[in-house]
Amino acid sequence: MSGKTIGTTPLDRLRERLDATRRVCESCGSDQSDSRWEAATTGSRILYRLECDSCGARIERSFRL
Ligand SMILES: [Zn+2]
Repeated sequence: MSGKTIGTTPLDRLRERLDATRRVCESCGSDQSDSRWEAATTGSRILYRLECDSCGARIERSFRL
């Protein structure tokens, strides 16, 4: 039996949602879809960060848990 676990935590769901959206740097417009989000939680919020590998700009998304 294949036991692939689908993300069930809120964090996993948020990550899936982020992965479904396009990651385009707002500074240089380059596509960062191959980059991975770096997650950080701050109390009741979660912050996803991505650094553009073309210009080094930060792309940030934050959600309320
Ligand atoms: Zn950029």
